[in-house]
Amino acid sequence: MKLLLDATLCQGYGLCQESAPELIDLDEWGYARLRATEVPDDREEQAQEAVAACPQAALRLVK
Ligand code: SF4
Repeated sequence: MKLLLDATLCQGYGLCQESAPELIDLDEWGYARLRATEVPDDREEQAQEAVAACPQAALRLVK
C-alpha cells in the first residue's frame, strides 16, 4: 500500500502524525510530511488510522 498526501489540503492539525509517527513527520509549521510513501504491512493499520484522523481528507491509502 502507498500513503499519499495532498499538501494543498493539509491545514497542519497534526492528528495524522499522532496516529502514525513512523510514517508521517510534521514540518516546523506543523504541516504533514511523509517519511515514505510505501507502507510496510505491519504499519497499514497505523496508516488507516492516520487517514481517518485527518479532518481535511488530505491523506489517502492506495494499492
Ligand atoms: S491531520 Fe491532515 S491536515 Fe492535519 S497535519 Fe495531518 S494531513 Fe495535515
